[in-house]
Amino acid sequence: MTGTLFLSLVLTSAVMTAIVAVRYLAISGGFAWLSRKVRPGIYDGLSPQIRRELRWSLLSAAIYGIPAGFALWGWKEHGWTRVYTGWDAMPLWYLPVSLFIYLFVHDTWFYWTHRWMHRPRPFRVMHAVHHASRPPTAWAAMSFHPFEALTGAFVVPLLVFLVPIHVSMLTAVLTIMTVMGVTNHMGWEMFPKWLVHSRVGAWLITASHHQHHHEAYSCNYGLYFRFWDRLCGTDRGLSPNAG
Ligand SMILES: [Zn+2]
Ligand SMILES: [Zn+2]
Repeated sequence: MTGTLFLSLVLTSAVMTAIVAVRYLAISGGFAWLSRKVRPGIYDGLSPQIRRELRWSLLSAAIYGIPAGFALWGWKEHGWTRVYTGWDAMPLWYLPVSLFIYLFVHDTWFYWTHRWMHRPRPFRVMHAVHHASRPPTAWAAMSFHPFEALTGAFVVPLLVFLVPIHVSMLTAVLTIMTVMGVTNHMGWEMFPKWLVHSRVGAWLITASHHQHHHEAYSCNYGLYFRFWDRLCGTDRGLSPNAG
């Protein structure tokens, strides 16, 4: 019995790893293709770097797949998580609230661990891999050292055990996470100027904000929102090179 449980856990983790890897290849591949169309020559001469970004990202997929597989297994086999499917299980207003809670908690965790990883020793050991992409490309979304991938791998899989979320909102969280991870690294801004330079845009992180992190290093540490960067005085605005 225990053997069967273990096997189903291993299988679910393997399936999740494959899903994360295919999702990465599809979304990064799609935006890399679009980048070459919209900004011809943008990745010229970067082939060796892109190969490295691919290798690190696929390794990260395996690291993300294990806790994600455990969460999926706990949900499907045991009903342990707080993921719900019925529309009447919680009030409708809770749908956007849960989406925001997940993004904000993830953003908070990312900001502080990312800031810590810019201290000299953690930077050398685990974060230099991500910054070896100069400039990053659409393939750099999951280009992390395994230690860094581990710091991010548990946030959403842990949250699903603690904070109720409708499966549609969980899908939205994972989509935003994947698409923003890719587009923030692709080297150009896909959102219109009127949004990026608006009052709402002043609180959101898109390519022009994260590009500046890759140029200047000691600023713009956030993931989705500029809240922590602004509060802690680490927000240095947008990159002039990602317009
Ligand atoms: Zn960094
Ligand atoms: Zn980055």
